[in-house]
Amino acid sequence: MPKDRPELPPVEELLATAVTALGGVERPGQVKMAQAVRDAVESEEHLAVQAGTGTGKSLAYLVPAIRHAAESGDAVVVSTATIALQRQLVDRDLPRLADALEGLLPHRPEFAILKGRRNYLCRHKMAAGMPEDEDDQLFDPREVSATGRMVQRIQEWANETETGDRDEIVPGVSDQAWRQFSVTARECLGAQRCPSGADCFAELARERAGEADVVVTNHALLAIDAMEDFAVLPEHDVVVVDEAHELVDRVTSVVTGELSESTIGLAVRRAGRLVEQGVADRLQESGEDLRALLAVAPPGRVDTLPQSLGMTLALIRDAAFACITALGPRNKDKDDPENAGLRKAAFTVLDDVHDTAQRMLDAFGPAAGDDADESGDAANGDHAGDARSEEVHRAEVVWLEEGRGRVPPTLRVAPLSVGGMLRDKLFGDRTVVLTSATLALGGSFDSLARQWGLGKGEWTGLDVGSPFDHPRRGILYVATHLPQPGRDGLPEAYVDEIAELIEAAGGRTLGLFSSMRAAKAATEALRERLDVPLLCQGDDSTSQLVKQFAGDPATCLFGTLSLWQGVDVPGPSLTLVIIDRIPFPRPDDPLASARQRHVAATGGNGFMAVAATHAALLLAQGAGRLLRSMDDRGVVAVLDPRLATARYSGFLLNSLPPFWRTTDPAKVRDALRRLTAGS
Ligand code: SF4
Repeated sequence: MPKDRPELPPVEELLATAVTALGGVERPGQVKMAQAVRDAVESEEHLAVQAGTGTGKSLAYLVPAIRHAAESGDAVVVSTATIALQRQLVDRDLPRLADALEGLLPHRPEFAILKGRRNYLCRHKMAAGMPEDEDDQLFDPREVSATGRMVQRIQEWANETETGDRDEIVPGVSDQAWRQFSVTARECLGAQRCPSGADCFAELARERAGEADVVVTNHALLAIDAMEDFAVLPEHDVVVVDEAHELVDRVTSVVTGELSESTIGLAVRRAGRLVEQGVADRLQESGEDLRALLAVAPPGRVDTLPQSLGMTLALIRDAAFACITALGPRNKDKDDPENAGLRKAAFTVLDDVHDTAQRMLDAFGPAAGDDADESGDAANGDHAGDARSEEVHRAEVVWLEEGRGRVPPTLRVAPLSVGGMLRDKLFGDRTVVLTSATLALGGSFDSLARQWGLGKGEWTGLDVGSPFDHPRRGILYVATHLPQPGRDGLPEAYVDEIAELIEAAGGRTLGLFSSMRAAKAATEALRERLDVPLLCQGDDSTSQLVKQFAGDPATCLFGTLSLWQGVDVPGPSLTLVIIDRIPFPRPDDPLASARQRHVAATGGNGFMAVAATHAALLLAQGAGRLLRSMDDRGVVAVLDPRLATARYSGFLLNSLPPFWRTTDPAKVRDALRRLTAGS
């Protein structure tokens, strides 16, 4: 340790002080995790820690993080997947921790939250009144007036806000309204050149973050900071990735490119104000070609590039390039401050259109735009010939997403894997601690480590377990007597089984379904049969539904994906979790199926590496809804018999908490009746 570093109390002492001050009890798993984080930071080795619900993992990483920041003077970045956890850290855990540790450290720990630039009000855009980007013709009058009211609310709020943070606006405003007051990082003029740079909210947030010991952010901004050429986060040498099971999906979203008539229309509108009409018209025409093609193409993965699509993508790319050239040198803005914002906005979207079209062409191999599949009549050609070797070399996947409401059909491109990117950019020059309640899939961290791009010997794994006594407090019931779930909705036998389980539990049930269709079908069928209140996702906002569910033990709540991970209801209101089927990715999920085929083509087991891993993660998250406090007890009922009978069932079962297991429906119903009678 350098001589001028302060002597600080050990992590164990700081943790004990914090736990006492916060009114908690010291837990062995928490101490073990805090020590492991300290060791990882000191030895500069990446660490993955699985810490079950109730461990107190936030304190277990925040305490060594704060100690490291106080000792080294460098900030520690904590990244989360959800706004809920960000709020918990910034509004609750960190202020209390700062109070508790202040007397033991050289200064009171400082913390700040930092979001992407587009989350802050842009004073320049507001003052300069940049022209609206939206195409009003697309909207019906009601939507236009609703947006108008939101715009007015934003303008009133803008006069009072001290942070410019969009999340302060309650109730929230639509993306469409907010876009008129915000810029992306690439659209920003830069504080030096911007007339409002001195008062810029995003810059002020960055300044505050620059002085903080702990900077809380999200996975998307962490990925952007790691991958872009410009620094977004303050200098740091340690990152804690909480909710690390979400990292790969969030990073994939950041690097997914898209093209549709809307994205090209936006580029045309922005370029049209600055370049000759004929140049912008070329881009518009290529956008119209794309619209016509996508309107008739089947949604899903584009396996081989039809000639018509290849030619259109090449036209889009070239037309965007012509607009970029017509805009003139990028550094011309110094002499043209008035148009600087408009030019920057135009460059940003034109670069995106150009680069995305090129990426899509590259996804099919070199010179794909020139020698695209001559059949030219389908987006989903099926060429078996060299498919295997193509699969091995493929780096990105292109797929068409169906249009919905006002959103037109959209062509997307994403990498098959973000592991290499994470390995180079995120793990390359800093120590990363990854943590979650679910990291061990099939009993090992290897599946997730591979997705993060970490090889053997490049990281250490630690499972600190859970303070809950799973075998005594919970039962895992697999309904082996039921038929396998089919493609045609929820089997009648499943509805009967759910009814019997809910009756035995006296309500108190969270139903986690693999599709919204199944959740709605079960709700409809059971509302007629049961006399307990039954809520279904979509009836109201999810947070309202969860509140209602938590407030009345007789109430049941059915839903899909966001409930699998987002419900935290301790106490008797949640005694039974029902899972209708193993949550494999849908067979038509283009990215999952492409990843699966790629693993298979390179000699691996595609099903286990992709589909089973995905299912294991969600199952563990879903089953994790049951025990949320030391006093909780209950049953996780999985209706899909494959969890006990399929060849991959061992992998899935090993991913779940160690509940006592049974396949006997009578035993489970008895247990539920006893639990209900005793609560
Ligand atoms: S510096 Fe960028 S974000 Fe800030 S006010 Fe200027 S243009 Fe907007």
